[in-house]
Amino acid sequence: MKRYQPEEILIERGEENTPVVRRTLDHLPDTPVRIVEPGWEREAPPRDGTDSFAAGKRRLLFTRQRSTFLEHCPAGTSGLVCCNYLVVSLISNCPMDCSYCFLQEYLANNPLLKVFTNVEDLMSEVAKAVDRQPWRQFRIGTGELSDSLALDPLLGFSGDLVPFFAARKNVLLEFKTKSDRIEELLKHDPKDRVVVSWSLTPPAIADTEEHGTASFAERLHAAQRVQAAGYKVGFHFDPLIEYPHWEEGYRDTITQVFSAVDPRRVAWVSLGSLRMTPALRAIARRRFPQTRLLSGEQILCDDGKWRTFQALRVKMYRTITAWLKEAAPQAPQYMCMETTPVWEKVFGHAPSCDKDVARMLTQPNLVAS
Ligand code: SF4
Repeated sequence: MKRYQPEEILIERGEENTPVVRRTLDHLPDTPVRIVEPGWEREAPPRDGTDSFAAGKRRLLFTRQRSTFLEHCPAGTSGLVCCNYLVVSLISNCPMDCSYCFLQEYLANNPLLKVFTNVEDLMSEVAKAVDRQPWRQFRIGTGELSDSLALDPLLGFSGDLVPFFAARKNVLLEFKTKSDRIEELLKHDPKDRVVVSWSLTPPAIADTEEHGTASFAERLHAAQRVQAAGYKVGFHFDPLIEYPHWEEGYRDTITQVFSAVDPRRVAWVSLGSLRMTPALRAIARRRFPQTRLLSGEQILCDDGKWRTFQALRVKMYRTITAWLKEAAPQAPQYMCMETTPVWEKVFGHAPSCDKDVARMLTQPNLVAS
């Protein structure tokens, strides 16, 4: 995949000598740099042009996180089954540009690619939370407001996070990505505490809807390499896309994935239907007029998001979970942002919110590397 090259680097005054800024400037010595005052982005006028979101991605701002890092995954909203996942965001926005990405709406008014410099505050927050409950197993992911690894060769955050999480027995860190930027990861020993997971769609969708991401073949090759280096891997068939010939597409994708990696060392596989708010659909239609994602049979659900209508969604989940069971019988499967009735139709039961799914995903049922 293509290397990220910002047009401009903006550094909040006072953050010039932080490790992440120094690493980035070493990698991008020719990129223009500007020092800005704290809070500058709130006053910065929106850039002219037809696609301010795409323009925002090309401006890299280093700032401090002044609020807390650790949060509950927003998927745990009422009416949907929750897996008790926690998120920490060191980056806000993403160098890639998927046509269905919720950041297009979520960051519409503040689309700079923002990097938080105070990783030590993140680690101290996490340490406080997980060390005082040693009996509880936590899962924490970094891929909520950005791709976890796409910028890792520049920012090098994995060099801070992998040793920190590898030293703790009651927490799994998940890096979620559509990139193949794993070079930094290979320098560290995860001690079985880090899962690197790939979001996958069949190549026909990835090639047309996931702009700037690593190809399906590149993602698979990266998964093979991190697994060989001792990392657990995971896969997210999320968003699950209904398109002509989806059966062949997903069948073939699953066959290729589990021929490439050892299915016995897959930490988890998730599925989640394509879901978009009306506002996000309007943005996607404007930014990607060729997208094929808005033409399927979709309905507006109770949480205000459009999804594939339930009967077809359940058919897709049942079909794909059966293929996954065949290809990777030991890998725990779960659904993201789905209701209890859909869980019951697909798996025959619905878990209790914050115990069953979380327990299933943190049990050490994998063979050793
Ligand atoms: S890789 Fe993820 S965060 Fe980046 S644009 Fe695609 S969906 Fe959004």
